[in-house]
Amino acid sequence: MIDLRSDTVTRPTDEMRQAAADAEVGDDVYDEDPTVNELEATVADLLGKEAALFVPSGTMGNQIAARVHTERGQEAIVERESHIYKWELAGLAQHAQLQTRTVEAPNRGVVTPEMITDAIVVGDDHKPGTGIVCLENTHNNRGGTAIAAEEIDATCEAAHEREIPVHLDGARLFNAAVALDTPLDRLAREVDSVMCCLSKGLGAPVGSMVAGSQSFVADAHRVRKLLGGGMRQAGVLAAPGLVALSDRDRLADDHENAKALAAGVDDVPGLSAPEPETNIVFVETDDPAAPFVERCAERGVLGSTRTEHVVRFCTHRDVSADEIETALERIADAA
Ligand SMILES: *Cc1c(COP(=O)(O)O)cnc(C)c1O
Repeated sequence: MIDLRSDTVTRPTDEMRQAAADAEVGDDVYDEDPTVNELEATVADLLGKEAALFVPSGTMGNQIAARVHTERGQEAIVERESHIYKWELAGLAQHAQLQTRTVEAPNRGVVTPEMITDAIVVGDDHKPGTGIVCLENTHNNRGGTAIAAEEIDATCEAAHEREIPVHLDGARLFNAAVALDTPLDRLAREVDSVMCCLSKGLGAPVGSMVAGSQSFVADAHRVRKLLGGGMRQAGVLAAPGLVALSDRDRLADDHENAKALAAGVDDVPGLSAPEPETNIVFVETDDPAAPFVERCAERGVLGSTRTEHVVRFCTHRDVSADEIETALERIADAA
């Protein structure tokens, strides 16, 4: 089976399993797990932030950030196709008690300064006031688009002019950094907090990071506890995360594979696929997508139905270039 549903399906490598077995551990709720502490320091440094916190999932990282930055009853500016808005169970309403205001960024998910300026609400006796701006890079549902640092900077400037903090959902920021050949700390330079996932393309079994200033992370530590995300000997999870981080340049292979897959699919009658920027391939189907995905599955290729005529295939470290060739033959047969 060639599983292209998501880059979260990767299994930990032997090296990751060994690192987990060998990890030095302690009680991380008391900040006494040396491996977690090392991971947090490493990621803070990579992202150019004062501190970072290890959290069980990307969703929790995003939700913690929203809670820390805002007051109950404010508004969050979110992109209409963003993960934090669409796929986190209305967590912004449930945990931080925010009202969402969506902006629509059909151009690769790039939220422009003008969109922010238009969407900002100044609080008064009637209006809630904007409490946070949420950005996403790569932008998953806009096709895994890698958004340039200058574009993120400009959006941040528009928010900061009104003293509104910006949180970056960087679940796949590692992919963006490789695709753009831009350091992670440059991509995150102007944002107030950033979340990134070790469990996606990097292939670690579990875990995400949320980073920001010392005081942000101190507050985030409390909210993590509140949400039940305080973990004990979490070094067994942090150790594979450190291994995954050290090997992040290999994401370029996933991007190459995604390009090859898209180019091949685009040659199949009834299917079309624009050239991907990272590891996410959106395939448009002339016929309905769901039965096509079923026929692919019957032939040993898994993808996910996105909309009535769009299928998503996601490349990752457990799928080789040869398997992409095999997948293409099966996809063509299914079509
Ligand atoms: C996967 C993902 C998340 C959430 O990560 P989980 O670890 O699955 O909770 C957040 N944002 C984006 C863009 C994602 O793709």
